[in-house]
Amino acid sequence: MLVILSKSVSAHDKEMILIYLRDQGFAVREQKLGDDLIIGAVGKSAADLRELSLLPGVERVAATSKPYELASRETHAEDTIVTVGSGETAVKMGGSRITIIAGPCAVESREQILETALRVRESGAVILRGGAFKPRTSPYAFQGLGMKGLEFMKAAGEAADMPIVTEVVSPEWAAQMRDLTDMFQIGARNMQNFELLKRVGSLGKPVLLKRGPSATIEEWLLSAEYLLASGTKDVALCERGIRTFETYTRNTLDISAIPVVKALSHLPVIVDPSHAVGIRAKISPAALAAIAAGADGLTVEVHPRPDEALSDGPQSLYPEQFERLMRDIEALAPVVGKELLRTPRSTGSAPRRAAPVASLTPVASLTPVAKLSAELPVAFSGESGAYAERALMRAFGEDVPRLSCPGFNLVFNAVLDGSAAFGVVPVENSLAGSIHENYDLFIRYPDIAMAGELKLRIVHCLIAAPGADMDSLTIVRSHPQGFEQCREFLDKHPQWRLEPWNNTAAAVASIMREKNSAGELPPHIAAIAGEAAAAAQGLKVLKMGIETNPLNYTRFAIISRRVGDAAPVPPSLGSERPNKASLIFSVPNKPGSLFACLKILSERGINLSKLESRPIQGQPWRYLFYVDVSIPETEGLFTQTLGELKAITEDFHFLGMYRAAA
Ligand code: PEP
Ligand code: MN
Repeated sequence: MLVILSKSVSAHDKEMILIYLRDQGFAVREQKLGDDLIIGAVGKSAADLRELSLLPGVERVAATSKPYELASRETHAEDTIVTVGSGETAVKMGGSRITIIAGPCAVESREQILETALRVRESGAVILRGGAFKPRTSPYAFQGLGMKGLEFMKAAGEAADMPIVTEVVSPEWAAQMRDLTDMFQIGARNMQNFELLKRVGSLGKPVLLKRGPSATIEEWLLSAEYLLASGTKDVALCERGIRTFETYTRNTLDISAIPVVKALSHLPVIVDPSHAVGIRAKISPAALAAIAAGADGLTVEVHPRPDEALSDGPQSLYPEQFERLMRDIEALAPVVGKELLRTPRSTGSAPRRAAPVASLTPVASLTPVAKLSAELPVAFSGESGAYAERALMRAFGEDVPRLSCPGFNLVFNAVLDGSAAFGVVPVENSLAGSIHENYDLFIRYPDIAMAGELKLRIVHCLIAAPGADMDSLTIVRSHPQGFEQCREFLDKHPQWRLEPWNNTAAAVASIMREKNSAGELPPHIAAIAGEAAAAAQGLKVLKMGIETNPLNYTRFAIISRRVGDAAPVPPSLGSERPNKASLIFSVPNKPGSLFACLKILSERGINLSKLESRPIQGQPWRYLFYVDVSIPETEGLFTQTLGELKAITEDFHFLGMYRAAA
């Protein structure tokens, strides 16, 4: 049941309502749903609801259509972000990130869990899994090392800088395990062990709740409800295959459950392809399918020597297979509009805290990772819902304070004058090419450097007032690049007048400003922008995915202010050695001058990932070159190369060096 509070409810009245509900035996949770403050109340009670609706501060009481209320999206529209672990190594699940948990089925020895932790961490896993208490089908099979195993696992997690998740099989062990594990796993066989759920839920630690082998989605969500109603807020659901008539695979991975559960519940959905499929060679394709279907992450069994594993060896990946899977996930993530959350790859196999920081000391040397001040925002150009805002949230997290600027130059200004810690600006689109305005701004603002990059898939939508339809439209607004990228769709509607706007989200916002005197929105104006821009304004998506080519990505630069020769790196991008740099230069107007530049790069084995020429304004037939290059690992070589290039070019600008995005 939902108790919707009146907007002017006093703190005292709210407290009285909470006391009343608790006295009646309800478990309660306060939520914000849009502008409404609501209390979700769950439980069976003989209370007369009419009495409740008469309490001061209660606007109305509504029954939810689902038997699980705390787990339902009806009571909590936004994705829940589950935090596992604490401090610098804390990991988040849910929202726009893909979180990968990996490790062996069971902890077998101190050495085995440590070796596995370091291997999976090196490939980018962020949470370590492993069973210390193993629920096995046969009583004669390896039952796990118990508390000793958990101690080995905690030590391995600490050595690899990874939080850990482990299964709890009995309420009597739960309290003792609490101080050693960062997340509890409730195994498939225990999904409906309600005493265990209540005990574990009351400990307040995050829980990974596996779906029972024969559980319906509703039963699974009701088990999540038990955990939430017992006290924990951090629950992630884990689809691990259900029992069907098929015997070739161990279970049947219920891919369709992923989008269904994501719509029904706000909790993150993690997929376990290992227990679902049970056959090593078939795990990775199933894992990729889960990500494509919208999973928030995976839990994967990996063993350094699967043939020697004491449990589930045949379904455990070799570390090399896991590495390959991680690379594939990294490439797939932007297609589904997500980012793979990963530990930085070190150059050796050392854990993060021992990872070598780059030994480069060139024109812009690697600087300490900047601490993002709690007060200082990250600047972007456009209104709420702009693509740049989504890119920003991807790089810095949903909670980071944001500064919306009405132009790209104002983003540069904000970073320069210190009112923003970082800025995010688009520099290139995979279909429409470079965004020259921002390249020009790098030249105009030599104290601003490129400190990171990020690629975002762009899915354009036709957005209009709720009462509009395709036939009522006469005007479409967007950024010129938006029109360019939707050319085929727009060509089918030649009667529409196209009005260029500063940015896509501003085009959407402009519709809101054209209400008539009766407060009605115009049915004839639409805008082309991302889905988030429609949601930010409460407008309707008339058609989604109208870009000509679905392989439409925009590359964003993260900018920061140079300190001396260097630029701070955003903390979210880690302390990895930069491996890519961007330059702009022009060359003397004589034969072979560009060739001479390329020769310098070629002779040093430096890869050129971008070379674009662009006319210099006001200087006919002279060109600027936009160049992206890889940074060689050999110490000093890059600095030397830059010096040589500088000597034979004109207008040389070093934009910065950073970690290349996938
Ligand atoms: C496990 O993850 O180790 C496990 C036993 O899985 P499940 O409970 O899904 O069978
Ligand atoms: Mn297993």
